Amino acid sequence: MDPMAAQKRDYYEVLNLAREATDKDIRSAYRKLARQYHPDVCDLPDARQRFQEIGEAYAVLSDPDRRASYDRFGHAGPEGVGFDIGVTDIFDLFQSVVGGFGFQRERAAGGSDLEYQLPLTLEDVVSGFATEIAVSRFVRCEACGGEGAAPGSIRQQCPTCRGAGRVRYRQSAMLLTFTQEADCPDCRGRGVHIPDPCKECSGSGLRRKTEKVAVEVPRGVQDGQRIRYAGGGDAGPNGTRAGDLYVLIRVQPHDTFVRRGADLVCEVQMQFPQAALGDVIQVPGIPEPHELTIPPGTQHGDALVIRGGGLPELRRPERRGDLHVLVRLAVPRRLTKEQRKLLGELAEAMDLDLHPPESGLRKRLGQVLGG
Ligand SMILES: [Zn+2]
Ligand SMILES: [Zn+2]
Repeated sequence: MDPMAAQKRDYYEVLNLAREATDKDIRSAYRKLARQYHPDVCDLPDARQRFQEIGEAYAVLSDPDRRASYDRFGHAGPEGVGFDIGVTDIFDLFQSVVGGFGFQRERAAGGSDLEYQLPLTLEDVVSGFATEIAVSRFVRCEACGGEGAAPGSIRQQCPTCRGAGRVRYRQSAMLLTFTQEADCPDCRGRGVHIPDPCKECSGSGLRRKTEKVAVEVPRGVQDGQRIRYAGGGDAGPNGTRAGDLYVLIRVQPHDTFVRRGADLVCEVQMQFPQAALGDVIQVPGIPEPHELTIPPGTQHGDALVIRGGGLPELRRPERRGDLHVLVRLAVPRRLTKEQRKLLGELAEAMDLDLHPPESGLRKRLGQVLGG
């Protein structure tokens, strides 16, 4: 066994869960603990290790295949290969489940774009969703108006690049001469020399500020869609244009429904008499359950459609997709004596010549016991 695996804490213990925890329990335990131990907010010296431990436990227990494998084989996994979960995966996981900032993209001219990942449930997709997110971004320094010079002091043209911000180098190698252009090293491309820099922003003209941004997500939004807030990213240096803020929608998997565009798909279990005779049943729906008529003679694998039981269409939210209900025929694992008798009679009435294996078992037992 992997010696590292032996020292690891039990995943259920890490998330403070019982072995029979549902997917929902696992997700909410993870959300709570990951928020608490995120290294950006937690001051404990082992916050990072705890955060990784929590993320790894969630990555395994939230995946049915990995969970089943963990339940059987423990940390080593099947064939002792373990579960390969990197640190980047753990931070990605946090952003997609709990929300938060992903990457910042540099732009050629102007401020960086920012991307915020917003996790949503299918219920949010149906109702629409409004929230406020805290955005930490660069804004123009108020003390110097973004100029970078201490109030009352002056800006001068950078003597090295004469205000151009770019310098050209000539390099000779072998018999060739190259000309290269680069940002001016003295003014870092700004073209100005500031003898007395602003104390608030150390001469950069920019300050970091956390602001609340109201985010409104339309009904029917799809996973992976981005909402753009023009100019909501970092302010640009030297008064150049600000980057944009993008809110990236991450629709979480649902315990009951699978999404197909604006349609939803779910499964219901049905007993043979219900399917054969027909019935009126309740099936899950968002937000309310639906009443569904099962026609007599419904087959295993049939899909029954509830018109308008799906999700709002993004462009026309007053229209909704359909809910497809897949019928699964359940076969009872145990029968009472009475039920067995009735089923036997039914089989007879259906002209089925049955040979249940139990009678064979009785015969063998009889041979052993009776000699
Ligand atoms: Zn300033
Ligand atoms: Zn310069």
